[in-house]
Amino acid sequence: MQSASLAGESLPSPSFRFEPSAAPVTASERAAQLVDPGFGKVFTDHMALIRWSESDGWHDAAITARRPLTIDPSMAVLHYAQEIFEGLKAYRTANGGTVMFRPEANAKRFRDSARRLAMPELPDELFLESCRLLVKTEADWIPTVEGGALYLRPFMIASEAFLGVKPSAEYLYMVIASSVGAYWKGGARAISVWVSETYARAAAGGTGAAKCGGNYAASLVAQAEGIREGCDQVVFLDAAERRWVEELGGMNIFFVFDDGTLLTPPLTGTILPGITRDSIIQLARDQGLAVREELYSFEQWRADAGSGRLTEAFACGTAAVVTPIGQVASAHGRFTIGSGGTGQLTQRMLDSLTAIQRGQAPDPHGWLSPVA
Ligand SMILES: *Cc1c(COP(=O)(O)O)cnc(C)c1O
Repeated sequence: MQSASLAGESLPSPSFRFEPSAAPVTASERAAQLVDPGFGKVFTDHMALIRWSESDGWHDAAITARRPLTIDPSMAVLHYAQEIFEGLKAYRTANGGTVMFRPEANAKRFRDSARRLAMPELPDELFLESCRLLVKTEADWIPTVEGGALYLRPFMIASEAFLGVKPSAEYLYMVIASSVGAYWKGGARAISVWVSETYARAAAGGTGAAKCGGNYAASLVAQAEGIREGCDQVVFLDAAERRWVEELGGMNIFFVFDDGTLLTPPLTGTILPGITRDSIIQLARDQGLAVREELYSFEQWRADAGSGRLTEAFACGTAAVVTPIGQVASAHGRFTIGSGGTGQLTQRMLDSLTAIQRGQAPDPHGWLSPVA
């Protein structure tokens, strides 16, 4: 029996079977769905699927009709949450091409998450090829609305039917695609955040740096608490001291100061290493701005907002790209950042990043991956 990582590396890449959907959505129905797609509601006709087993490694790769799965109720993922996922977007560029944004970074992070969850590592070529082939198949599903994109959701589940507690002997890797519009309806208005002093998202040695469904399951009660308090999103503090700002439930966070510098919490193992975070650090430095990756306490955040030293804050991630933070609330009271609206530098970061993603600005770091 081969170990998970060995099988993943040593087997030749399977080529993908193409099994077109027998009942694709008609062009006119699709057009109707793409008028106002929202986020994560409109799905395309096909999906990518690859199986892994201890005996065969990665095999049975296909682009096939999107359909419900038939699963055994004892399937490991349903009981022990051995699951990881990714999120990336494909865009139609200004010159009519189709590109994915930094898919190589998602492929690497998917392997990192797999290692942490004791799952086999999907070779980068298979991750990239599955995404590329699906986007190629579903290019007509990229909405032309403002902020429109094809959101890809690669994920892997432990598919063995067995209740014993151990890494599964079988896995299912899939990619589904969703036509999306702008994440926040009505544009990037500033959001309010609830700083949870009750719940933590991730602790040292835990799974905070892995993109796994379990992290989200653990964050939902805090998100509900935030909603009850009238806020849009939750900010988590570190689990040990409940002092240092870490990130939101699904987005990283940046702070902007009156001297024009930026600060974002460092990747200490409890924070998800966002690709948008990494891209913004690079873009800011390209523009001559200083970016510090440093611990920042909630106490300091409140003090700096009060003194005016902190002028802006924003959250970032693939889905919403850049989201200004206007209001902050916690059990200890509320405060406003800057004017409470969208700051100048926040807007500039959003504009520069989306211009690259849509092929409207030069791509000096080679972030766009053509889907030809
Ligand atoms: C996915 C995710 C992010 C953002 O990562 P991107 O690569 O920028 O999309 C941030 N935090 C958490 C917890 C996430 O799951």
